[in-house]
Amino acid sequence: MLSSPVVVNGRSYAVPRVPAVVICLDGCEPAYLDAAEAAGMMPALARLRADGTARIAHSVIPSFTNPNNMSIATGRPPGVHGICGNFLYDPETGEEVMMNDVRFLRAPTVFAGIHDAGGRIAIVTAKDKLRALLAAGLDPDTGRAVCFSSERAAETTRAIHGIDDAATWLGRPVPDVYSAELSEFVFAAGVKLLAERRPDLMYLTTTDFIQHTHAPGAPVANAFYAMFDRYLAQLSSAGAAVVVTADHGMKPKHLADGTPAVVYVQDLLDEWMGGGAARVILPITDPYVVHHGALGSFATAYLPADADAGEIATRLAAVPGIALVLDRAAAVDRFELPGDRIGDIVLISEEGMTIGTSAHRHDLAALTEPLRSHGGLSEQAVPFLVNRRLDLPETPRNFDAVEVACRAAAL
Ligand SMILES: [Zn+2]
Repeated sequence: MLSSPVVVNGRSYAVPRVPAVVICLDGCEPAYLDAAEAAGMMPALARLRADGTARIAHSVIPSFTNPNNMSIATGRPPGVHGICGNFLYDPETGEEVMMNDVRFLRAPTVFAGIHDAGGRIAIVTAKDKLRALLAAGLDPDTGRAVCFSSERAAETTRAIHGIDDAATWLGRPVPDVYSAELSEFVFAAGVKLLAERRPDLMYLTTTDFIQHTHAPGAPVANAFYAMFDRYLAQLSSAGAAVVVTADHGMKPKHLADGTPAVVYVQDLLDEWMGGGAARVILPITDPYVVHHGALGSFATAYLPADADAGEIATRLAAVPGIALVLDRAAAVDRFELPGDRIGDIVLISEEGMTIGTSAHRHDLAALTEPLRSHGGLSEQAVPFLVNRRLDLPETPRNFDAVEVACRAAAL
């Protein structure tokens, strides 16, 4: 049993008296909640706003899924936990490797810290790409840790995930990876885990397929948030202290004719420096391309040893649609990034623009809707809502969510 505050990565976490629940709504631009609430489709959220605490928080940059989920999980920015995208480029080998393996994680999660102190942990993620990172340091053998994904819920085992065949346990089929149901599965599992296991800390994190394909206020988006609201009501009425936040926002990034707005930076650097001399990395790239065609608002680039990074940065910053280009030291300083994983320069595009590598390398035919994406400063504002009255800073960070949930649960 937990008895005294737990310190993880230099931050102190109160002992929850009731379950502390953190919900990360993937890609939840604040306007999604505003629109669904204004349409009367989120009564539980309206109650939470009236009786609890509401803020707009800032995500970490890059405003991508894994860096932000791991910041929420560790309570710290990517410079501490090391996960700054989906991909890592190793200049030594010239290989791009997925960064979703636990060996890339440089800090313990708060989940592991509270688990080690005797607490009960439950985690459900929509996509399996986050599961191993979120489960780092948890030992299902204790009977106090559950962590699985909706995507692979039918394959879970007690030894690895803390639960056998989670899909049968929940009584729901495993949804398609591109669906609203993949996220609904997370909420339904959360409600059942709360009732059956009474975790001290629970983390529920969804997928942004709906947000990539539907704007705030669109019928499909409103239906998604109305669905979420029904589960929010159940979690709240079960007595949990709930924090709702997001990993990043979501903005339209297409031209008037519906085609994606892209600056192909690899093509520019090839033209300026010779083919293949520099290497542009898009850390949004993942196996789920139907969402975004690997196009977001953040990129890094590795330059040849004799290149003048400052000069290239200045030249790139003048390209229409590029908002900001920083050299490594400035990016580490401003965005708290791990300097050894971000190349020589970091690029951020303007709100309506994305950054690509070379035109021929992006399979835009996979995009089924006009592009909506994220990654930059324009997707940094995210909701931060607590179903308790608490003293919070005017602009919290989304990675304060676990600290705030534990504090709310200790009241
Ligand atoms: Zn996301």
